[in-house]
Parts: sequence; structure tokens; C-alpha cells
Amino acid sequence: MSLLEGKTALVFGVANNRSIAWGITQALHKHGATIGISYAGEVLERRAKPLAESIGCTFVEPCDITKDEEIEQIVAKAADKFGQIDILVHSIAFANREELIGPYYNTSREGFHLAMDISVFSFTALAKAFQPMIRPGGSLLTITMQSDRLFPGYNVMGVAKAALDASVMYLANDFGPQGIRVNAISAGPIRTLAAMGVGTFKRMYKHFAEMAPMRQNVTTEDVGNAAVFLSSDLASKTTGEVLFVDSGINFMGAPPQTED
Ligand code: NAD
Repeated sequence: MSLLEGKTALVFGVANNRSIAWGITQALHKHGATIGISYAGEVLERRAKPLAESIGCTFVEPCDITKDEEIEQIVAKAADKFGQIDILVHSIAFANREELIGPYYNTSREGFHLAMDISVFSFTALAKAFQPMIRPGGSLLTITMQSDRLFPGYNVMGVAKAALDASVMYLANDFGPQGIRVNAISAGPIRTLAAMGVGTFKRMYKHFAEMAPMRQNVTTEDVGNAAVFLSSDLASKTTGEVLFVDSGINFMGAPPQTED
């Protein structure tokens, strides 16, 4: 049975074949969804277009999420192409590299605003812009990273994720009466373009499989499969949730016991 047969999904945040957004796109496609893809701008066009073609997706549109007029344009194009949609995936984040090194208190006002705008507000902006064209039974999804723990060097992005998680609850409350659900997936570390911008990522990635109960790293396929569940009717009463796809590391209070 195709879990997403008859549903249309719009995925924001495909930068390349390592992107979590691409793992999600592939999984949604595999389970029968009609797909539209959005990427950030011209530089990424040459990567996004061939990926879209490989799954027969003909809606591949740019949208710089910091620009209201580009959001309006993609809404109009999506309305033209699909009429209504069922699934919206937001897999977008950005912070200046210098904000992800050293102490958090060095975060600049400008850097704080930029990280919050791209990584947090954009989800709310997309939710508002697409609200009139999401069918009842629809699902909005974003990607977070456990925001009730501190990851050294994650800095303003950790603060942004806390705000993103709060946005998920507020949006779930707003969209609930329309029969639309809003959730997040908290992913374990995956080697992507965005992750490489975090100064401490390599160390975090290296130790993850030793620390996590399942002793396995997380893949974009794992996140994609969880996204299929949350976007499908199987999750019909799940909203305002953060689902962990992290080999169980979120509940560990100390490193696992070893022989020595
Ligand atoms: P990625 O670099 O592949 O994706 C980030 C995306 O954000 C890119 O497609 C980029 O173009 C887009 N973006 C940045 N600025 C934008 C703008 N102004 N307008 C439109 N798009 C813009 O990296 P990723 O790891 O796949 O990141 C996707 C999401 O997953 C992010 O929210 C990230 O914080 C989250 N996440 C990643 C990890 C990880 O370890 N990789 C873990 C937990 C959560």
C-alpha cells in the first residue's frame, strides 16, 4: 500500500544529494506522493534540478526564504501547478560560520537575527503563506535538533532550534481546527552542508555512534522514513510533537558502560 498515494508534498531545503530534504523527498516519492521541490537560489539550481528530474518531479522552484516576494511567488506557482497541497516540509537553517565557533556570548545582533529569520521565522512564514491551500488532513514538518540539551559550539543555532520547537506547538494550535498537523523531527548528526558549518560537528559525529544506545549513525533515509509516517494518515492524531530520529541518544545521561 502506498501511504501517500494521492497526496502532494512541497519540500523546501534541497541543496544537494546529502540534504535531509533530499532524503525526505525520496521517501515521500517512494510512498506515492506527488513532489514539488524548492531550493534557495541560483547557485543550488544546478544541483536541485537533476535530483528533481531523477524522480520525475517537474516542479523545481527557487525561493529565498528571507524574501516575502519570493515566498508569494512560490505560493502562486504551487497553486497554479497543484491547486492544493497536503504536505509541506521545511528543512532549512542558516547561521554565519563565525557564530558557530567559540562562546555563545559572542553572537552578534545581526547574526542572531539572521539565524532566527532563516531557521525559525521561515517556517512560520511558509505556514502562513500556504495556509489557504493546505488540505484538511495535511501536515507541516520541520527539522530540529534536541533543543533541551546543550551542544558545545551549536550556539545560536541551538537557541534557534528551541524557538523552532516552540513554533511547532503554536502552529499546531493554530492549524489544529483545520485538521492540519504540525510536527518536527529531531535528527541525530548527519554529514550535510549545513552541518559542516558547525565548528564542533566532526567531534560530535565521531562520538555519536559510541554514545547512542543503538550504536549507529543516523541517515537521511532514516529521517525520510519518519517523515513519511508523520506526513501520512497513520499519524492522524499526532501534532505539536518532536519525534526523535537519533538512535536513542536523547535520553542518555552519561556515556554507555564499557568493558573497562
Ligand atoms: P543542508 O545544507 O543540506 O540544508 C539546509 C538548507 O537550508 C539548504 O538547502 C539551504 O539552501 C537552505 N537555506 C539556507 N538559507 C536559505 C534561504 N535564505 N532560503 C531558502 N533556503 C535556505 O543541511 P541539512 O543538514 O540537510 O539541514 C536541513 C535541516 O536539518 C536544518 O534545519 C538543520 O538544522 C536540520 N538538522 C540537521 C542535522 C544534521 O546533523 N545535518 C541534525 C539536526 C537537524
